[in-house]
Amino acid sequence: MSRTLRSEAIVLRSLRYGEADRILHLLTRDRGRVSAIAKGARRTRSKLGGRLEPLSHVAVLFHRGSGEMVTITGADLLASHDVVRADGDRLAVALVGIEAVLRLFPEEAADERLFDGLVRFLDVVGGPSGADPALALAFCLKLIALAGWAPRLDVCASCGNPPPLVRFSARAGGAVCATCQGFPVTDATLTTVARMLATPLDQLGPVDPAVLGPLRRIVDDTNAEHTGHRLRGLA
Ligand SMILES: [Zn+2]
Repeated sequence: MSRTLRSEAIVLRSLRYGEADRILHLLTRDRGRVSAIAKGARRTRSKLGGRLEPLSHVAVLFHRGSGEMVTITGADLLASHDVVRADGDRLAVALVGIEAVLRLFPEEAADERLFDGLVRFLDVVGGPSGADPALALAFCLKLIALAGWAPRLDVCASCGNPPPLVRFSARAGGAVCATCQGFPVTDATLTTVARMLATPLDQLGPVDPAVLGPLRRIVDDTNAEHTGHRLRGLA
């Protein structure tokens, strides 16, 4: 049995396949992660190919046959995100976010909050603050929280002691006190983590460059603790 399906999707990855085709990893609104083949997408006159670049937000038609992979039969661009792909700094921010989605949400399960969050993230990366590395870290923290692993920041995540919390341990699941194991963090860093979790991406505002290093470590360690992989885009 085969049928034609329609969904909004973001192109997460695009790989060359055979002579002229592409294999696409999509995050769809209705079905979560989907692997798809776009036949002939690398031919120079392919309309389909031009609409299925990585980061593109599209309305796709696809056809599910008997195999795992679906075949794309049509695509309309909702947002090309050309501005992001054309700017190395914005692209680096976007790719960290895409990598975190791929790592933290490997299952083929529909999740509208994830889909809408990724759409908003890519829109903000195309906006005035889109090249700010803090934006990638804020989005990763939101993804970590959405996956159910928001870091604990109110009491020691290891022994339950009240503040002051002066270290961070991804293994313990958050900020820890001076007697528990972790790497040193300042109040400014922990406050920024809390602010990033609570603030919409387009209202984030400036982030002190001094906290970016420890923030990156908090995000990378927490992701690695749960997925077993480092985020290459953060290296
Ligand atoms: Zn403790």
